[in-house]
Amino acid sequence: MKIVVIPGDGIGPETMAVCDEVLLSVSKRFELNIELSHESAGQESLKKTGATVTTELLEKVKKADGLMLGPMSTLELGQASKGEINASLFFRKNLDLYANIRPAKTYPGLTKRVQQDFDLIVVRENTEGFYADRNVESGSSEMLITPDVVISLRRITRHCCERIARSAFILAQNRKKHVTIVHKANVLKIADNMFIDICHQVGKEFPDVRIDDFIVDAMMAHVVRAPDQFDVIVTTNMFGDILSDLTSELSGSLGLAGTLNAGIDFAMGQAAHGSAPDIAGKNIANPFSQIISAAMLLNWYGQKHDSKSFIAASQAMEQITLELMKSGQVTPDVGGNLKTDEIAKAFIKQLQMKN
Ligand code: NAD
Repeated sequence: MKIVVIPGDGIGPETMAVCDEVLLSVSKRFELNIELSHESAGQESLKKTGATVTTELLEKVKKADGLMLGPMSTLELGQASKGEINASLFFRKNLDLYANIRPAKTYPGLTKRVQQDFDLIVVRENTEGFYADRNVESGSSEMLITPDVVISLRRITRHCCERIARSAFILAQNRKKHVTIVHKANVLKIADNMFIDICHQVGKEFPDVRIDDFIVDAMMAHVVRAPDQFDVIVTTNMFGDILSDLTSELSGSLGLAGTLNAGIDFAMGQAAHGSAPDIAGKNIANPFSQIISAAMLLNWYGQKHDSKSFIAASQAMEQITLELMKSGQVTPDVGGNLKTDEIAKAFIKQLQMKN
């Protein structure tokens, strides 16, 4: 399996270095023959090439079997036409990675922010919605009408609703068989009622999966009050982006927020959080978001190629993550005192004990 690795900005190089060591040790242990090829995007690439991301890089990525993308500092980016492109958006759009799978669960031994244990997945539509550059074929869906008036458009299509709904139901069928639709149909009546209707239509193909729905604002309260009542949550792009940061923080930290961006033919592992400039360079960032994302990528590849060893490797990564958390071998954000780079050593030691 050839994986392109792009460490990204801020804490990205620190957490991705741990992920590299983990992937290579797992590859050796399970004889996966994983090849990592390092490339740059984001601020480093902007300095080197004049663009945060390039079409040449996209071509290299397309030739690989998967991508591990680090966090990008996007707030400070200017105009895309001047090379200041949001790399996450660029890959999601150009590789049609429509399903953003964002699990959040509590771990024994970790400081969590709610009383209940929970295990849920936010399934976020990743290619349209309220994200300007994902709305139209080219250009932006944000318009400056006068210096004081801006119109931002949201695109919702039947095609994208159907495929994200199907991803959610397939996941739910192998879990607790419960899908919750999150929407704002009381205000965005046409688009979000279409989203709800399509989810119910797709749901008919999965008659044993229970369906309910919540308005997004109330959902914030429900998920804080009783996160254990949810299994798979399906929602549109921006709601999923916001809700999944909440659910991962409730589980303990944004540093646990591993995600997979999956399409039909390609997938990208990427932590849900940003470049965390407040802790960058301090060797305290939690690398488990990256490790969990990598485990999801190996699982996706294993399912696609029907490879038992890739699936076993992914399960071992999850198991070791669980064991390290249980024994308190974690970073300070979740109550431990290990440095970022010490997680790699701890992980490899645990993996060797399984030999
Ligand atoms: P952030 O997600 O970077 O950080 C929010 C908080 O969570 C901070 O306190 C940070 O220290 C903490 N945190 C995040 N990851 C952590 C980890 N692995 N371990 C421990 N703590 C962690 O959000 P922000 O500060 O609003 O954004 C910083 C930059 O990242 C901005 O430029 C933003 O645009 C960008 N961003 C990028 C992505 C992405 O690349 N996918 C996602 C969100 C934000």
